[in-house]
Amino acid sequence: MLAEVIAIGDELTSGQRLDTNSQWLSRELGLLGIPVGYHTTVCDTLDAGREAFATAAQRTQLVLATGGLGPTADDLTRDVLAAVAGVPLVCCERSLAEVNARFARRGMPMPESNRRQALFPEGSQPIPNPTGTAPGIDLTLPAGERWGQGRGARIFTLPGVPAEMRRMWQETVAPALVTLAGGSRVLQHRRLKCFGAGESALEEMLPGLIERGRDPTVGITAHEATITLRISAWAASASECAAKISDTEQVIRDALGPLVYGEEDDEVEDAATQSLRTARLSLATVEAGTGGRVAALMAQAAARQSAAAVFRGGIVLPELSSESDTLVRAALHVAEQQGADLGLAVGPVRLSDERQAVDIVIASGEWREVHEHHLGGGDIALSRAAKAAIDRVRFVAADRRVGKLGGTS
Ligand code: AMP
Ligand code: MG
Repeated sequence: MLAEVIAIGDELTSGQRLDTNSQWLSRELGLLGIPVGYHTTVCDTLDAGREAFATAAQRTQLVLATGGLGPTADDLTRDVLAAVAGVPLVCCERSLAEVNARFARRGMPMPESNRRQALFPEGSQPIPNPTGTAPGIDLTLPAGERWGQGRGARIFTLPGVPAEMRRMWQETVAPALVTLAGGSRVLQHRRLKCFGAGESALEEMLPGLIERGRDPTVGITAHEATITLRISAWAASASECAAKISDTEQVIRDALGPLVYGEEDDEVEDAATQSLRTARLSLATVEAGTGGRVAALMAQAAARQSAAAVFRGGIVLPELSSESDTLVRAALHVAEQQGADLGLAVGPVRLSDERQAVDIVIASGEWREVHEHHLGGGDIALSRAAKAAIDRVRFVAADRRVGKLGGTS
């Protein structure tokens, strides 16, 4: 089953507003294992709308559309759908009563224009909208000559307001699609979180895994240098899904080793905090290039794990030499001052061979690790630098030699 997403609104085609609904819906469709073949953005006219829906229904079997369901004269999506299906608009008494009740609860009479929101193309179903007045429309275009190769299409249309759209998706559309796409089958996902290699490098380490048509599927996404591998499996039962997922997970873990730091919503600082706890080590930080990000992330992770003793605090300096002796002294000094086993010093972001780099030093007594980390360009360089420093803490804490050196707390 291939899907198309249609975003409707003059505010989108004129560039006044960015179409974020299509991005969101496409990701959600991907999570259900439904590939999206097309995105269409269309203005608020009857002709353009008709053409967009007719084209989508010819080339895909599933259409997700947002926008144009409001009560005003420029909200034409219901008229467009009726025209495409070749059916009249009819009043749904239940929807009319619901729109009425929503106004009554606010102590207001229903404006005449809102009556339109109870009109639906004949044969379609309203999609309940718990947080707004406009219900969505669930319409099936029958198979036939008109709809190309006789396949027909299922069209779900939701309001443009992102919060309403998301809730209606979660409560009504997604469950309907799970049934549509899988019958009585079960769909499950598992996310593995990686740090320390780029997206394409990781992909190369996983030959054949990130391929369309594989079962289970493995998807890859990157956010501020953290990479998520999402394993999705369909099966007849939850236990069969779990077994398929765990086989693929093992293949990934064998290939990537310690590049996989966690699962689901884990961040790299959660993994570093966990390593410190396991090794019974505490940490203090001094940072220049990362402006306090390392301390903020470590403090948050320690709070999430109720492990306040692991992170003993940090100092933020406006500048610091990138020279390694200075960074080692700074790391040892902050560790001593805060009573921590390990000191972490992050130098300034500087240029090295025309690339941005940052120096990361971890020290404890006579032991030290000096690491030069290369950063990609752009706004996320500081966030990357902070995560890279925290990732070194994760490795160092997991290294037993260091555990023996520090490990006093
Ligand atoms: P509508 O359902 O067309 O009345 O849209 C209501 C509001 O939702 C618009 O004024 C936009 O602010 C917002 N909106 C509509 N479509 C989108 C979209 N594709 N992405 C993000 N926001 C949207
Ligand atoms: Mg609109």
